[in-house]
Amino acid sequence: MKAEFTVTGGSTLRCRSWRQEALLRLLENVLAVGEDPDNLVVYAALGKAARDWPSHDAIVHALKTMTEDYTLIIQSGKPIGLLKTHEKAPLVIMANCNMVGQWAKAEIFYELEKKGLICWGGLTAGDWQYIGSQGVIQGTYEIFNQIAARYFNHDLTGRFILTAGLGGMGGSQPLAGFMANAATLVVEVDEERIDKRMKIGYLQQKATDLDQALALIREAQAAKKAISVGLLGNAADVYPELLKRNIIPDIVTDQTAAHDLVYGYVPAGLSKEEILNLRKTDQKTLMAASLASIKKHVTAMVGFQKQGSIVFDNGNLIRTHAYNAGVHNAFDIPIFTEAFLRPLFCRAIGPFRWIALSNDPNDIAIIDNYILTHFSENKTVTNWINLAKKYIPFEGLPARIAWLGHLERTRLALAVNEMVAKGVLKAPIAFTRDHLDAGAMAHPNIMTENLKDGSDAIADWPLINAMVNCSSQADLVAIHSGGGGYSGYMTSAGVTVIADGTEQAKERLQLSMTNDTSLGVMRYADAGYPEALDEVVKKKINYISLV
Ligand code: NAD
Repeated sequence: MKAEFTVTGGSTLRCRSWRQEALLRLLENVLAVGEDPDNLVVYAALGKAARDWPSHDAIVHALKTMTEDYTLIIQSGKPIGLLKTHEKAPLVIMANCNMVGQWAKAEIFYELEKKGLICWGGLTAGDWQYIGSQGVIQGTYEIFNQIAARYFNHDLTGRFILTAGLGGMGGSQPLAGFMANAATLVVEVDEERIDKRMKIGYLQQKATDLDQALALIREAQAAKKAISVGLLGNAADVYPELLKRNIIPDIVTDQTAAHDLVYGYVPAGLSKEEILNLRKTDQKTLMAASLASIKKHVTAMVGFQKQGSIVFDNGNLIRTHAYNAGVHNAFDIPIFTEAFLRPLFCRAIGPFRWIALSNDPNDIAIIDNYILTHFSENKTVTNWINLAKKYIPFEGLPARIAWLGHLERTRLALAVNEMVAKGVLKAPIAFTRDHLDAGAMAHPNIMTENLKDGSDAIADWPLINAMVNCSSQADLVAIHSGGGGYSGYMTSAGVTVIADGTEQAKERLQLSMTNDTSLGVMRYADAGYPEALDEVVKKKINYISLV
């Protein structure tokens, strides 16, 4: 092991000011809560915090020594230099894993990665915004809630959710299912991941064979009690077996790292040693084995759908791979964004996050209470905050996610900045969001599938988003793309702003939070969504309509 991976809290600065210190703490944090920090991997198979350890150490050195009138430039996880800018410019700008169109292919990415020329930043790994499994939990919970409202009379009590994958992001599924009061079975091939989710409080039970797991699920269903069970097994075996036995769950999805056929998805029938060996010696054979398993896995998901299960793709490209492997009806399964969340994105309501740099959970509790009092008109968010307070354990620096929209984010961020200024909070707060947010991602098989105006594959929006955030004085701005199986599939942008209690932070938060979400609404207004056009009018957004 390279080092102990811990977080730093308190009020002692190792950098020249809080802005740099904050970014350094966030870098430490993504490693402390990451899946394989020894190899700098944060989540999603290969999503890394820095290209290699010398790059990591040089980034840390730069953050510790730079003044606020410089900007640190990072290219695919490697620091390139410090440019003299000014105190209103971002402290860090980065581009991770952007490849030129014709060459944006998984095989070329792996070659460049092996040569040490590139690394994948995931969405929130390379730009140090990951907050552990909590990062996607409200999204998953809201999806379950929407399914409950549409198909199950607003109630998932006694309902059976089947899914797979207990990694960095997938690990949120059992807790989201539990919070929705369902009986959730998660198939996971790696026992260590099951144990990790149990240890941090995201998963309740472990089962090592299917009958044992089903008995636990059935018992909970009969007693109308919520339960989460991690089953050690391969989804490509378990899903078809359940279908064969005619056991049809109410809801089916999957969050294995299926996007990456080499380092992510684990094909059935191969031992861990065989897979590790094939990663080094014969990636083509491994990719073929992964595709063959995904074919079985998704064929079963379509089978469940035909039998009445509510089935959705949870953003891991599994339908795309299955379709390419010959499952012609893979796209009968809808993507979660289009099926459940798009009306929210139209109003720029999305996965907003804040992180307590003090490392004191009480700072998050104070902000929770502020939201409960001052956002009482937003029942979705107050309901969520109450649930999150009760059920979500912190990993690394205490943090919170809540789906807030245009102007709500600005309002909260400015209030928090004032709390920092007044000493109500022990230290500054970092504000950030997922890249999977209204104006920040183009991914025609996840975020921008089947857009009303057919603009699914246009990547201008996330690029504009990053430029807007730079000109709005954000502290860190990132443009991400590709990586393994996602190569050629997506472009996204990330942003972080530090509320350090200063007047300058007030200006930065006001501009970047407001412009980030304004652009999100404009993106959907431009695609012709009535909810976004309504939000333009309601919130007086300066969208230029040519219609
Ligand atoms: P991860 O690499 O941390 O974990 C993936 C897990 O899947 C691992 O624990 C692995 O052992 C398990 N797995 C792989 N193949 C399996 C199989 N055949 N059967 C059972 N288990 C298997 O990845 P992650 O961070 O959890 O992300 C999972 C996927 O979700 C990725 O494709 C990621 O890009 C995607 N994702 C979606 C969203 C979203 O908003 N919906 C957000 C983040 C990530």
